[in-house]
Amino acid sequence: MANKNKQTKPKKVKINQFWIIGAILVFFLGLQVFSDANSGATTVTWNKIETFLKAGEIERFEVVNKEEARVYIKEAALSKEQHKSVSTTALGKRVNRGPHYVFNIGTPEIFEQKIERAAQDFPQARDVDVQYTTVHNFWGDILSWMFPIFLILIFSMFMMRRVSNSMGGGGAGGQIFNVGRSKAKIYDEKDQTKVTFADVAGLHEAKEEVEEIVNFLKEPKKYTDLGGNIPKGALLVGPPGTGKTLLAKAVAGEAGVPFFSLSGSDFVEMFVGVGASRVRDLFKQAKDKSPCIIFIDEIDAIGRARGKNQMTGANDERENTLNQLLTEMDGFGSKTNVIVLAATNRADILDKALTRPGRFDRQIHIDLPELKDRKDIFKVYLDRLKKKSDDIDVDFLAKQTPGFSGADVANICNEAALIAARKNKKQIEKQDFLDAIDRVIAGLEKKSKIISKDEKEVIAYHEAGHATVSWLLRYASPLVKVTIVPRGRSLGAAWYLPEERQLSSAEQIEDEMCAALGGRAAEDIIFNRITTGALSDLEKVTKQAQAMVTVYGLNEKLGNITYYDSSGNDSMFNKPYSEKTAELIDQEIKKIIDAQYDRAKQILTDNKDKLEVLAKALIEKEVIFKDDLVEIFGKRPFEQKEETEHQTMTSEASSEEQLS
Ligand code: ADP
Repeated sequence: MANKNKQTKPKKVKINQFWIIGAILVFFLGLQVFSDANSGATTVTWNKIETFLKAGEIERFEVVNKEEARVYIKEAALSKEQHKSVSTTALGKRVNRGPHYVFNIGTPEIFEQKIERAAQDFPQARDVDVQYTTVHNFWGDILSWMFPIFLILIFSMFMMRRVSNSMGGGGAGGQIFNVGRSKAKIYDEKDQTKVTFADVAGLHEAKEEVEEIVNFLKEPKKYTDLGGNIPKGALLVGPPGTGKTLLAKAVAGEAGVPFFSLSGSDFVEMFVGVGASRVRDLFKQAKDKSPCIIFIDEIDAIGRARGKNQMTGANDERENTLNQLLTEMDGFGSKTNVIVLAATNRADILDKALTRPGRFDRQIHIDLPELKDRKDIFKVYLDRLKKKSDDIDVDFLAKQTPGFSGADVANICNEAALIAARKNKKQIEKQDFLDAIDRVIAGLEKKSKIISKDEKEVIAYHEAGHATVSWLLRYASPLVKVTIVPRGRSLGAAWYLPEERQLSSAEQIEDEMCAALGGRAAEDIIFNRITTGALSDLEKVTKQAQAMVTVYGLNEKLGNITYYDSSGNDSMFNKPYSEKTAELIDQEIKKIIDAQYDRAKQILTDNKDKLEVLAKALIEKEVIFKDDLVEIFGKRPFEQKEETEHQTMTSEASSEEQLS
């Protein structure tokens, strides 16, 4: 847990266990070295000793641990030239009392034989004493049994660290015991990176709603004096990247209160009870910092409806976590001044207990930005770009990006800067933005991908098929651009600007399906052979047909029935219909798709000459725009009416067709 307050404290030199253990080891090793009593003696061989014996200079031998003999020279002999080097201690001028020499005896038996032989040879050697002693190396012994224990200790400490780090058990020292602590990031009111409503572009309705929360936090008394209860939580519902986190941060920034941020999945851990304990810890911290805001992103990770449709008790832990969250939210009174904001993109699958009054009783919907909002968001991010050419038109960019989220827009501005830098430009130009948009929609152009001449022809006819059918159908989305340059994972792509509509009729969906099947139909007509290139088209078409039959009740035979369950509990195993109906559903889906495929083939056969012109143009130019299509097909018959009817709507959503 990154607590800013803690971080700003001056750094102390950390004395951890490893240093202490290291120091103890060095101490013992030092003792071992310095306790060696022999340090002054010179090691010699038996030959030398023999000469000393012969001269009668040796006073006594001391055999230590049956290994080495320490030799003491008579005091009178020490003044002789040959003993000069051992007669005094190494440091001072004091007389060295011995031992003066040492030598390795091999075994005591060999040593005794040697002494005996020497005594026979030289009479003066006879009265040399031989003492046997055993010296215990106390510290060395201790060290020898403590060392393995130290090793085990260090190893186990190391393992503990690894385990607690891998569990994300943050906190001081990353101890294993911190696993139950909350992992929320806290942003202080003093934080430099303060976000305000000015940083959030668009989202006017949402801002209005959360403004009230800011007021609650600023002046709780105004509301409580009248007997009202401050709401405890609000749910921000919307697709990813639409600025939910940003908005929550802005609420905290505007109200000048601390902001705890974490994701629903942060509660979940492999250990039982950890989630619940993290929730407790989070609320405890929040209460200490009250008034404040807790922001839980992706609350569906813990807030899914409980109990239903589960095969085993595997989700018990998640349920415990959710229960704890509910308990905590009930637990704090209206005086606590902690407001919980949570974000999700699926409010319908949340447990009903979460959304009841007294918990997340407000739902604030945040949709993908519309044209005007996108313009505002572009303005915010264009302002942040340092060097850009003057011809960049925010209106134009906003129109080119239907269906984009705020995060996508931010990403495009950043990509444009990167693309310009890659081309070594001094400033960012309009073309860089267009390239960035294309890249975000369909991935990076892959000109190096090797595509044979035959394949290129197939791709060109496939894309031309889509373009032709969609051009000639009333409700299919008008085309903006087709390319056969591979991008991302697809081999060709077409860009459309679908009209925005809240309701779709069966006719409209059928036109879209027909256009999607146009690619495969063109391959079929021209080459009499179909390829795997239509995978994503088929996927889309199948889903649409399925939805028509089982979700929207748009099929005559099945009638006004839906098998959709808005609570997200539809089971894989228990179908809500009989086997007979299942068969009927399959038949009807197939019928719808077959009919549209035949229709696409008919349209293409009728316009085969134009299809061929278009495909050849594509092979030659690789990219074709709307104007080229007007040249081939003439003006789109429905366009005129469309443009007057939906003047502002036609550019509100986007889809892209891929041949993958
Ligand atoms: P969400 O939480 O909805 O997934 P975020 O709030 O994390 O989305 O948004 C991601 C990024 O997108 C933000 O950091 C911001 O840069 C940008 N963004 C999204 N919506 C907006 C907006 N309305 N105004 C300004 N920036 C936005």
